[in-house]
Amino acid sequence: MAEDADVIVVGGGLAGLVAATEIAEAGKRVIVVDQEGEQSLGGQAFWSFGGLFLVDSPEQRRLGIKDSYDLALQDWMGSAGFDRDEDLWPRRWAQAYVAFAAGEKRGWLRAMGHRIFPVVGWAERGGYDAMGHGNSVPRFHVTWGTGPGIVEPFERRAREAESNGRLTFKFRHRVDSLMTSHGTVDGVSGVVLEPDKIERGRSSSRRATGEFTLRAQAVIVASGGIGGNHDLVRQNWPKRLGAAPANMISGVPEHVDGRMIGIMEAAGARLINRDRMWHYVEGIKNWSPIWPRHGIRILPGPSSMWFDATGRRLPSPLFPGSDTLGQLQYIMSTGHDYSWFVLTQSIIKKEFALSGSEQNPDLTGKSWMMTARRATNKGAPAPVEAFKAHGVDFIVRDNLADLVGGMNALVDDDLLNAEDIKAQIEARDREIENAYAKDTQVLNIHNARRYIGDRLIRTAKPHRILDPAHGPLIAVKLNILTRKTLGGFETDLDSRVFGQDGKIMPGLYAAGEAAGFGGGGMHGYRSLEGTFLGGCLFSGRNAGRAAAKAVS
Ligand SMILES: Cc1cc2nc3c(=O)[nH]c(=O)nc-3n(C[C@H](O)[C@H](O)[C@H](O)COP(=O)(O)OP(=O)(O)OC[C@H]3O[C@@H](n4cnc5c(N)ncnc54)[C@H](O)[C@@H]3O)c2cc1C
Repeated sequence: MAEDADVIVVGGGLAGLVAATEIAEAGKRVIVVDQEGEQSLGGQAFWSFGGLFLVDSPEQRRLGIKDSYDLALQDWMGSAGFDRDEDLWPRRWAQAYVAFAAGEKRGWLRAMGHRIFPVVGWAERGGYDAMGHGNSVPRFHVTWGTGPGIVEPFERRAREAESNGRLTFKFRHRVDSLMTSHGTVDGVSGVVLEPDKIERGRSSSRRATGEFTLRAQAVIVASGGIGGNHDLVRQNWPKRLGAAPANMISGVPEHVDGRMIGIMEAAGARLINRDRMWHYVEGIKNWSPIWPRHGIRILPGPSSMWFDATGRRLPSPLFPGSDTLGQLQYIMSTGHDYSWFVLTQSIIKKEFALSGSEQNPDLTGKSWMMTARRATNKGAPAPVEAFKAHGVDFIVRDNLADLVGGMNALVDDDLLNAEDIKAQIEARDREIENAYAKDTQVLNIHNARRYIGDRLIRTAKPHRILDPAHGPLIAVKLNILTRKTLGGFETDLDSRVFGQDGKIMPGLYAAGEAAGFGGGGMHGYRSLEGTFLGGCLFSGRNAGRAAAKAVS
């Protein structure tokens, strides 16, 4: 049967682009098929903050951070908590990925023109023991140019390959099935969707205008996760977290629909760890939405006080930025699917960052001048101030009684008692004036300020929350925001997919979120952050190189 290319890649997100460019550079012909239009090239990565997990980088060293492969692997394994038979390949991927992050990753990107913002962020700080969850040191390296800055080198390489005839894009082609001949996956078929000039990120038309079939020697599936499909999220919701939340907002566009999962399973591929997901608990409703139920994640600094829906402070160590899964588990145990931050203007100004390229025009636009204002400005960054002014989840008041009144009014309930909240804040405020405090969150704040990066742009000078000089007071209702899929198709280190019979399926590869970023779930239960884009780079590269080698 005539082949249309050597390899077909399903998905023009970051993982698909990386795989396709590796294939083209190996001298092979590749077709990239995507259900969205050309304007959406890059998928989720375009919208991302561009944060990358790197280990022992020059950026870390310049800031006095001592990191190593061993420390990072200890942190990874403590966070992953691998505990299943099917964690065999995820565990191997985890080791290989940490080695990549401590080795080639930065230099490989740098050679393509990728650059990093010099202040390294400290995400998922944990708070348990040395073998527990969390980053022992700051490792979150933000791409200069955020999401578009990580897509750019691969789009450029793909366009070059397109112009020399090695790479062909087939936009608005939605794959509905995989084709197999003599036991080898060798093609895809589906429908051609009508052209749609809708802006990137908005939901595009699903009206089919025709059908297509494409043949090749191998197929790489890089179709993303399930975060835009709340029915699938609910269906796969882990039993250990109780019932799925009644209300969720979406941290990803609607094309993150998980359709390819059923299609791959129908072809015999083995999906593992489907109940492992990475959703955030600091989601706010976007006042200017692009995609349905559009939510934004707050990347919080360490100082906001965190209360559950009934007004109880979240227990130690579940402070902002510590343990996303632990926080989700706690919040779901309260019987409510939201919680509250209470903070001051001084805290919001220094500590609120919003995840997403469009929420960070300074870093996305590569403007040093605008970025410097993060450290020097009187107010919070403009997108944060805009949320404060227009976001439905924000309440701003001059005194606590009014603030709590506003919080109760927002949820149309009287779960919160102003006196009770006041007592908890006053107790915390007494500790903040004490250099030897016993309150773990206060200790964390002092620890954060020992790191120059945090002191400069991420951690407010310690102060009493009820000190009017730092007002007004702000409360933010935090929603559960769907984002990443940690499970996926089981793959070996060449990204070859295992079948439900436990054998490699000839011709079939998976990369990126569809492969649980490698192996079917290299993160285990939790992420150290910045590991998803990197997972696309690593698994896309492995898939592309292996497929290029395998085809004749
Ligand atoms: C706002 C935001 C911020 C983020 N910030 C970070 C960060 O700082 N650091 C980090 O590491 N990660 C971050 N992430 C996560 C990261 O961006 C994603 O996990 C990653 O980009 C996923 O890439 P992918 O190539 O696997 O999938 P996707 O980007 O989802 O691409 C998959 C592509 O496949 C196409 N497709 C799906 N099904 C079909 C089909 N049946 N037929 C044809 N085409 C199909 C889709 O249209 C899509 O274009 C963020 C994500 C978002 C949304």
